[in-house]
Amino acid sequence: TRKHLIAGNWKMNETIPEAVVLAQEISNGADPATLDVVDVAVCPPFVDLKPVKTVFEFDKVNVALGAQNVYWEPKGAFTGEISIPMIKEIGCTYCIIGHSERRNLFGETNEGVNLKARALIEAGIVPIICVGESLSVRDEGVYLDFVTSQVRAAYAGIDAEDAVRTVVAYEPVWAIGTGRTATPEQAEEVCAAIRATLWDLFGEETAESMRVLYGGSMNEGNAALLLAEADIDGGLIGGAALKASSFLEIVKAAK
Ligand code: 13P
Repeated sequence: TRKHLIAGNWKMNETIPEAVVLAQEISNGADPATLDVVDVAVCPPFVDLKPVKTVFEFDKVNVALGAQNVYWEPKGAFTGEISIPMIKEIGCTYCIIGHSERRNLFGETNEGVNLKARALIEAGIVPIICVGESLSVRDEGVYLDFVTSQVRAAYAGIDAEDAVRTVVAYEPVWAIGTGRTATPEQAEEVCAAIRATLWDLFGEETAESMRVLYGGSMNEGNAALLLAEADIDGGLIGGAALKASSFLEIVKAAK
Protein backbone atom coordinates (compact mmCIF):
# COMPACT_ATOMS: atom_id res chain seq x y z
CA THR A 1 0.00 0.00 0.00
CA ARG A 2 1.18 3.44 -0.92
CA LYS A 3 1.62 6.13 1.72
CA HIS A 4 -0.43 9.19 0.83
CA LEU A 5 1.39 12.42 0.03
CA ILE A 6 -0.30 15.77 0.63
CA ALA A 7 1.67 18.65 -0.86
CA GLY A 8 0.73 22.30 -0.63
CA ASN A 9 1.62 24.41 -3.64
CA TRP A 10 1.66 27.96 -2.34
CA LYS A 11 2.22 29.31 -5.89
CA MET A 12 3.21 33.03 -5.91
CA ASN A 13 1.79 33.77 -2.46
CA GLU A 14 3.26 34.77 0.92
CA THR A 15 6.07 37.21 1.65
CA ILE A 16 8.63 35.92 4.12
CA PRO A 17 6.78 37.21 7.22
CA GLU A 18 3.50 35.80 5.89
CA ALA A 19 5.14 32.48 5.04
CA VAL A 20 6.59 32.19 8.54
CA VAL A 21 3.14 32.74 10.08
CA LEU A 22 1.55 30.14 7.79
CA ALA A 23 4.31 27.64 8.54
CA GLN A 24 3.89 28.24 12.28
CA GLU A 25 0.14 27.72 12.01
CA ILE A 26 0.72 24.43 10.17
CA SER A 27 3.31 23.29 12.67
CA ASN A 28 1.14 24.25 15.68
CA GLY A 29 -1.93 22.52 14.29
CA ALA A 30 -0.30 19.39 12.92
CA ASP A 31 -0.90 16.11 14.70
CA PRO A 32 2.45 14.27 14.98
CA ALA A 33 0.76 10.85 14.81
CA THR A 34 -0.87 11.80 11.49
CA LEU A 35 2.46 12.99 10.12
CA ASP A 36 3.85 9.52 10.82
CA VAL A 37 1.37 7.92 8.43
CA VAL A 38 0.91 10.64 5.81
CA ASP A 39 3.76 12.34 3.97
CA VAL A 40 3.21 16.09 4.06
CA ALA A 41 5.10 18.79 2.17
CA VAL A 42 4.76 22.46 1.43
CA CYS A 43 6.13 24.14 -1.67
CA PRO A 44 6.53 27.86 -0.99
CA PRO A 45 8.14 30.43 -3.29
CA PHE A 46 11.95 30.16 -3.42
CA VAL A 47 12.56 33.13 -1.12
CA ASP A 48 10.39 31.56 1.59
CA LEU A 49 12.10 28.14 1.59
CA LYS A 50 14.75 28.91 4.20
CA PRO A 51 12.46 30.73 6.66
CA VAL A 52 9.81 28.00 6.38
CA LYS A 53 12.46 25.32 6.84
CA THR A 54 13.66 27.10 9.96
CA VAL A 55 10.14 27.05 11.46
CA PHE A 56 9.66 23.32 10.83
CA GLU A 57 13.13 22.50 12.15
CA PHE A 58 12.66 24.58 15.28
CA ASP A 59 9.29 22.93 15.96
CA LYS A 60 10.64 19.50 15.01
CA VAL A 61 7.58 18.92 12.85
CA ASN A 62 7.71 16.33 10.10
CA VAL A 63 6.68 18.51 7.15
CA ALA A 64 8.94 18.31 4.12
CA LEU A 65 9.85 21.10 1.75
CA GLY A 66 9.49 21.35 -1.99
CA ALA A 67 10.29 23.92 -4.67
CA GLN A 68 7.77 24.88 -7.36
CA ASN A 69 10.23 24.86 -10.25
CA VAL A 70 13.92 24.51 -10.95
CA TYR A 71 16.38 24.70 -13.84
CA TRP A 72 18.21 21.59 -15.01
CA GLU A 73 21.72 23.06 -15.42
CA PRO A 74 23.78 22.96 -12.22
CA LYS A 75 25.15 26.52 -12.48
CA GLY A 76 26.13 29.27 -14.85
CA ALA A 77 24.82 32.15 -16.93
CA PHE A 78 21.07 31.56 -16.60
CA THR A 79 19.78 34.85 -15.28
CA GLY A 80 16.77 34.50 -13.05
CA GLU A 81 16.95 30.73 -12.68
CA ILE A 82 17.43 28.59 -9.56
CA SER A 83 19.55 25.43 -9.63
CA ILE A 84 19.04 21.97 -8.20
CA PRO A 85 22.12 22.26 -5.92
CA MET A 86 20.55 25.45 -4.50
CA ILE A 87 17.23 23.86 -3.60
CA LYS A 88 18.97 20.75 -2.35
CA GLU A 89 21.25 22.69 -0.04
CA ILE A 90 18.24 24.54 1.38
CA GLY A 91 16.60 21.23 2.24
CA CYS A 92 14.05 20.46 -0.46
CA THR A 93 12.87 16.87 -0.62
CA TYR A 94 10.54 17.50 -3.55
CA CYS A 95 10.30 19.76 -6.59
CA ILE A 96 7.15 20.37 -8.62
CA ILE A 97 7.86 20.35 -12.34
CA GLY A 98 5.64 20.90 -15.37
CA HIS A 99 2.82 22.60 -13.51
CA SER A 100 0.20 23.75 -16.00
CA GLU A 101 0.78 27.36 -15.00
CA ARG A 102 4.44 26.97 -15.95
CA ARG A 103 3.55 25.18 -19.16
CA ASN A 104 0.89 27.71 -20.19
CA LEU A 105 2.28 31.00 -18.88
CA PHE A 106 6.04 30.39 -19.02
CA GLY A 107 6.52 28.11 -22.00
CA GLU A 108 7.58 24.96 -20.16
CA THR A 109 7.68 22.00 -22.58
CA ASN A 110 7.54 18.22 -22.25
CA GLU A 111 11.24 18.17 -23.20
CA GLY A 112 12.10 20.62 -20.43
CA VAL A 113 10.06 18.63 -17.93
CA ASN A 114 12.01 15.52 -18.90
CA LEU A 115 15.38 17.29 -18.47
CA LYS A 116 14.28 18.59 -15.07
CA ALA A 117 13.03 15.17 -13.97
CA ARG A 118 16.32 13.49 -14.89
CA ALA A 119 18.46 16.13 -13.21
CA LEU A 120 16.34 16.05 -10.03
CA ILE A 121 16.47 12.25 -9.82
CA GLU A 122 20.22 12.39 -10.19
CA ALA A 123 20.41 14.86 -7.31
CA GLY A 124 18.17 12.78 -5.07
CA ILE A 125 15.23 15.20 -5.11
CA VAL A 126 11.79 13.76 -5.84
CA PRO A 127 10.18 15.41 -8.87
CA ILE A 128 6.42 15.88 -8.66
CA ILE A 129 5.65 15.69 -12.36
CA CYS A 130 2.44 17.55 -13.22
CA VAL A 131 0.24 16.57 -16.13
CA GLY A 132 -3.30 17.47 -17.07
CA GLU A 133 -5.58 18.46 -19.90
CA SER A 134 -7.31 21.75 -20.69
CA LEU A 135 -11.08 22.02 -20.92
CA SER A 136 -10.97 21.97 -24.73
CA VAL A 137 -8.97 18.74 -24.74
CA ARG A 138 -11.45 17.21 -22.29
CA ASP A 139 -14.39 18.33 -24.39
CA GLU A 140 -12.81 16.78 -27.47
CA GLY A 141 -12.75 13.49 -25.56
CA VAL A 142 -9.03 12.87 -26.10
CA TYR A 143 -7.90 13.62 -22.55
CA LEU A 144 -6.59 10.12 -21.74
CA ASP A 145 -4.32 10.15 -24.79
CA PHE A 146 -3.22 13.69 -24.01
CA VAL A 147 -2.34 13.02 -20.38
CA THR A 148 -0.67 9.66 -20.96
CA SER A 149 1.47 11.16 -23.71
CA GLN A 150 2.57 13.88 -21.29
CA VAL A 151 3.55 11.09 -18.88
CA ARG A 152 5.49 9.19 -21.54
CA ALA A 153 7.33 12.35 -22.58
CA ALA A 154 8.24 13.22 -19.00
CA TYR A 155 9.77 9.76 -18.44
CA ALA A 156 11.67 9.46 -21.72
CA GLY A 157 15.01 7.77 -21.04
CA ILE A 158 14.21 7.18 -17.36
CA ASP A 159 14.34 3.56 -16.15
CA ALA A 160 12.21 1.81 -13.54
CA GLU A 161 14.86 2.12 -10.84
CA ASP A 162 14.77 5.91 -11.16
CA ALA A 163 11.04 6.21 -11.84
CA VAL A 164 10.40 4.80 -8.35
CA ARG A 165 11.83 8.02 -6.97
CA THR A 166 9.28 10.24 -8.67
CA VAL A 167 5.66 11.28 -8.17
CA VAL A 168 3.04 12.11 -10.80
CA ALA A 169 0.33 14.70 -10.19
CA TYR A 170 -2.79 14.76 -12.34
CA GLU A 171 -4.11 18.29 -12.40
CA PRO A 172 -6.87 18.94 -14.93
CA VAL A 173 -6.42 22.58 -15.95
CA TRP A 174 -10.17 23.17 -15.83
CA ALA A 175 -10.22 22.26 -12.14
CA ILE A 176 -7.32 24.46 -11.03
CA GLY A 177 -8.38 27.50 -9.05
CA THR A 178 -11.88 27.25 -10.47
CA GLY A 179 -13.68 25.58 -7.59
CA ARG A 180 -14.76 23.00 -10.16
CA THR A 181 -13.19 19.85 -8.74
CA ALA A 182 -13.05 16.72 -10.83
CA THR A 183 -15.45 14.15 -9.45
CA PRO A 184 -13.75 11.20 -7.75
CA GLU A 185 -14.74 9.07 -10.78
CA GLN A 186 -13.27 11.57 -13.27
CA ALA A 187 -10.04 11.87 -11.28
CA GLU A 188 -9.76 8.11 -10.77
CA GLU A 189 -10.27 7.40 -14.46
CA VAL A 190 -7.26 9.48 -15.41
CA CYS A 191 -5.08 8.46 -12.44
CA ALA A 192 -5.74 4.81 -13.33
CA ALA A 193 -4.78 5.51 -16.94
CA ILE A 194 -1.58 7.14 -15.71
CA ARG A 195 -0.80 4.06 -13.63
CA ALA A 196 -1.50 1.81 -16.62
CA THR A 197 1.02 3.87 -18.57
CA LEU A 198 3.55 3.48 -15.75
CA TRP A 199 2.95 -0.31 -15.86
CA ASP A 200 3.62 -0.26 -19.56
CA LEU A 201 6.82 1.76 -19.10
CA PHE A 202 8.23 0.25 -15.92
CA GLY A 203 6.37 -2.94 -15.09
CA GLU A 204 3.86 -3.81 -12.42
CA GLU A 205 6.01 -3.68 -9.31
CA THR A 206 7.33 -0.20 -10.02
CA ALA A 207 4.01 1.20 -11.20
CA GLU A 208 2.23 -0.12 -8.14
CA SER A 209 4.76 1.47 -5.82
CA MET A 210 4.62 4.94 -7.42
CA ARG A 211 2.35 7.68 -6.13
CA VAL A 212 -0.14 9.44 -8.38
CA LEU A 213 -1.65 12.58 -6.87
CA TYR A 214 -4.73 14.54 -7.81
CA GLY A 215 -4.78 18.36 -7.85
CA GLY A 216 -7.44 20.92 -8.73
CA SER A 217 -9.74 22.62 -6.22
CA MET A 218 -9.11 19.92 -3.63
CA ASN A 219 -10.33 21.08 -0.24
CA GLU A 220 -11.38 19.81 3.18
CA GLY A 221 -14.84 19.08 1.85
CA ASN A 222 -13.95 16.88 -1.11
CA ALA A 223 -10.54 15.42 -0.17
CA ALA A 224 -11.75 12.26 1.59
CA LEU A 225 -13.74 10.96 -1.37
CA LEU A 226 -10.98 11.74 -3.86
CA LEU A 227 -8.37 10.08 -1.65
CA ALA A 228 -10.53 6.99 -1.24
CA GLU A 229 -10.07 6.16 -4.92
CA ALA A 230 -7.74 3.24 -5.65
CA ASP A 231 -5.27 5.11 -7.84
CA ILE A 232 -5.25 8.49 -6.06
CA ASP A 233 -2.36 8.50 -3.62
CA GLY A 234 -2.52 12.05 -2.38
CA GLY A 235 -3.15 15.62 -3.35
CA LEU A 236 -1.43 18.68 -4.70
CA ILE A 237 -3.27 21.53 -3.04
CA GLY A 238 -3.32 25.15 -4.21
CA GLY A 239 -5.77 27.60 -2.64
CA ALA A 240 -6.69 25.42 0.33
CA ALA A 241 -3.00 25.06 1.24
CA LEU A 242 -2.86 28.77 2.09
CA LYS A 243 -5.13 28.28 5.08
CA ALA A 244 -3.50 26.12 7.73
CA SER A 245 -6.77 24.72 9.09
CA SER A 246 -7.98 23.67 5.62
CA PHE A 247 -4.62 22.16 4.70
CA LEU A 248 -4.49 20.19 7.95
CA GLU A 249 -8.04 18.91 7.45
CA ILE A 250 -6.95 17.55 4.07
CA VAL A 251 -3.92 15.95 5.70
CA LYS A 252 -6.24 14.32 8.24
CA ALA A 253 -8.47 13.04 5.45
CA ALA A 254 -5.42 11.33 3.95
CA LYS A 255 -4.86 9.16 7.02
P1 13P B 1 -6.12 24.81 -6.56
O1 13P B 1 -6.14 23.82 -5.42
O2 13P B 1 -6.08 26.23 -6.10
O3 13P B 1 -7.17 24.53 -7.58
O4 13P B 1 -4.70 24.58 -7.29
C1 13P B 1 -4.33 23.30 -7.65
C2 13P B 1 -2.94 23.34 -8.12
O5 13P B 1 -2.63 23.87 -9.16
C3 13P B 1 -1.91 22.73 -7.25
O6 13P B 1 -0.69 22.65 -7.91
